[in-house]
Amino acid sequence: RAKDAGRDAFRFFTTEMNAQSLARLDLENALRRAIDNDEFVLYYQPKVHIGSGRVSGAEALIRWQRPGHGMVSPALFIPILEETGLIVKVGTWVINEACGQIGRWGRAGVGPVHVSVNVSGIQFFVGGLEEEVLKAIELHAIAPELLELELTESSLMSNAEETIAVLRNLKALGISISIDDFGTGYSSLAYLKRFPIDKLKIDIAFVREVTSNPDDAAIVLAIINMAHSLKLRVIAEGVEKDAQLAYLRRHGCDEMQGYYFSRPLPGPEFEQMLRGGKMLAPPASDGCPEQL
Ligand code: C2E
Ligand code: MG
Ligand code: MG
Ligand code: MG
Repeated sequence: RAKDAGRDAFRFFTTEMNAQSLARLDLENALRRAIDNDEFVLYYQPKVHIGSGRVSGAEALIRWQRPGHGMVSPALFIPILEETGLIVKVGTWVINEACGQIGRWGRAGVGPVHVSVNVSGIQFFVGGLEEEVLKAIELHAIAPELLELELTESSLMSNAEETIAVLRNLKALGISISIDDFGTGYSSLAYLKRFPIDKLKIDIAFVREVTSNPDDAAIVLAIINMAHSLKLRVIAEGVEKDAQLAYLRRHGCDEMQGYYFSRPLPGPEFEQMLRGGKMLAPPASDGCPEQL
């Protein structure tokens, strides 16, 4: 009996595993096709300058229009792109697409719009990022000052000398660099003074309870003050409530981003919002209604 049960459990387990690895393989193949079939799209979430209340730029966020599945969230496919190395190709596409959009907004007369792009650690370390960025800037004839790369702490920490060299080359192009999800990775504060960076992005995890959790309030305050002492600008992500905005304003945070102002929008809707010249109430969807 016990033996049978064990065998059944084993059979069930392998069937389950096979189903899982098949689904995974399916997803990988679909992602490979997605690149060739142009199924990725960039959404743009406004950043707001706290002092003026004006839109100071946008963060480009990738979505996958998977046929038969609706919009797929990057949280579900970026890790797979990273594990398979496909992120390098997709990352190149993202940089190109964002530069193209900066160019189109400029020509449409709603610009200049400053756009930040998320860069994976793998993309950073595979090499050639500087050449890639330069090519995109030249191809779309945009001012390099309008492009910003968002890097995470963990992707900057593996080899300091090499990292500094790459960052210097990127900065020499005229673009700016920010540290995304600041405070959540393995970072050494010593690097902040050695790395040529422009901005810290306070992670949503600290912003969420900034008005109710004294520890989060202290951390946010410390990041703002430290950033300013180091002559860095500071932006908070994930702002959803009045009280969060008030706290950030009171303590001198430079910029904010979050559903309070707007969800990430398709390019044309972002453009409409800019033409309107004022902040909108949050629309219904962030373009990812469906999960995988
Ligand atoms: P991230 O760079 O930290 O981007 C911020 C995420 O928070 C976005 O999720 C955004 O939609 C979401 N968000 C913005 N405001 C709020 C808010 O008020 N409340 C809440 N709860 N969430 C908010 P999204 O678009 O799903 O992207 C998730 C992550 O996927 C990004 O985190 C980034 O790490 C990665 N990602 C997105 N696009 C790209 C890309 O083009 N390349 C790479 N390598 N990674 C990307
Ligand atoms: Mg980001
Ligand atoms: Mg972030
Ligand atoms: Mg984040």
